[in-house]
Amino acid sequence: MTAPLAAQKPEDLTAAAIEKRPLERYVAPAKPSLVGFSRAELGQALGEAGVPERQQRMRVQQIWHCLYVRGAADFDTMTTLSKELRAELAARFTVARPEVAAEQISVDGTRKWLIRLPGEVAGQPHDVECVYIPETDRGTLCVSSQVGCTLNCSFCHTGTQRLVRNLTAGEIVGQVVLARDRLSDWQRAAAPAGAEPEKRLVSNIVMMGMGEPLYNFEAVRDGLSVVADGDGLSISKRRITLSTSGVVPNIARAGAEIGSMLAVSLHAVTDELRDVLVPLNRKYPLRELLEACRNYPGLSNARRITFEYVMLKGVNDSLADARALVRLLKGIPAKINLIPFNPWPGSTYECSDWDQIEKFSEIVFNAGYASPVRTPRGRDILAACGQLKSATEKLSARERMALRAMAMTD
Ligand code: SAH
Ligand code: SF4
Repeated sequence: MTAPLAAQKPEDLTAAAIEKRPLERYVAPAKPSLVGFSRAELGQALGEAGVPERQQRMRVQQIWHCLYVRGAADFDTMTTLSKELRAELAARFTVARPEVAAEQISVDGTRKWLIRLPGEVAGQPHDVECVYIPETDRGTLCVSSQVGCTLNCSFCHTGTQRLVRNLTAGEIVGQVVLARDRLSDWQRAAAPAGAEPEKRLVSNIVMMGMGEPLYNFEAVRDGLSVVADGDGLSISKRRITLSTSGVVPNIARAGAEIGSMLAVSLHAVTDELRDVLVPLNRKYPLRELLEACRNYPGLSNARRITFEYVMLKGVNDSLADARALVRLLKGIPAKINLIPFNPWPGSTYECSDWDQIEKFSEIVFNAGYASPVRTPRGRDILAACGQLKSATEKLSARERMALRAMAMTD
């Protein structure tokens, strides 16, 4: 049993307020899905199915192509493999995607899937969300990395939930695969000989769904490496953006081991306020966070860090804040995404008034950041889907606008 609050030392309380431990472990099913396996893991799986080592490389390549270029949803369609091998594989594995519990399609083409993942206790599953946001020049998929979140940001609905468990690499890749299934996206690139293949609908990924991706580092790294593989799903790292609330040591690691684009949830320009909005700031204050950003590899004007800034009325939206924001980011190749606060039942904040967002964005714009609110109204306000949470609720106009704009991370 945990000690009563009064009996805990202050440092325990701080730690408890910042990070939570997962309540559950992932329990692999008797027949695991090959979706999300690395090439090495696939090779091992083939070994188990009796494929001699000298053939494994070629077979891995064939299965990879079936899974991630053609979108094979069962072994029977993998006709490049012998019937016997297909049967051996089917006896041990599946190519199952995560289960979709609900799907919402908005008039503007935004789609939201409620994804049901197995819990540690049989019959007690957990839900996360995955959202597809179409734009004229791209389609962005917002992917979840954890059930719940390790952290407790005070304006975020996910932050009020306990961290239930980390997603596996397979469940991360599975979100991309199931989006391509649902959007009939596999067929698009399969043009007849001589014809230009159509562009895929899912062209970009943002790790901005439920969870803090840098607190599920290995699964996110391994999953994204499958997603970025040029012989498979082929969504280049330039088109993948990982959003973090500021897990400083893992920012450098992400630069070295993942190599995607980076988005940082800044939301405040002083430690005093950021300590409240993003409590992880007490562990990794602004100075350290910005230093880690400056050192992120490969930054240039063409490759900027996106700084997310949620607009909270009377909290962080003064024009002095805007000027301080610009000063703070000086010297870092940056984009600034102003996110209109999306209220949730029980939230104590309000979204800034539109006029205030425009004035704030004017200062940011005049400082050379070509991002925030310009005409047409709301077109360029960027937002994220970390705040999404309900299966039954219809996507509100604000949510849709925010989501559409969110798709613009590069
Ligand atoms: N945990 C990661 C990624 C998921 S959240 C992170 O915090 O960066 C994605 C983005 O949505 C973050 O910038 C987060 O601060 C923002 N967000 C969360 N709740 C929100 C809300 N209610 N309204 C607007 N943005 C919100
Ligand atoms: Fe977690 Fe991100 Fe929400 Fe903070 S904003 S509680 S890090 S999901």
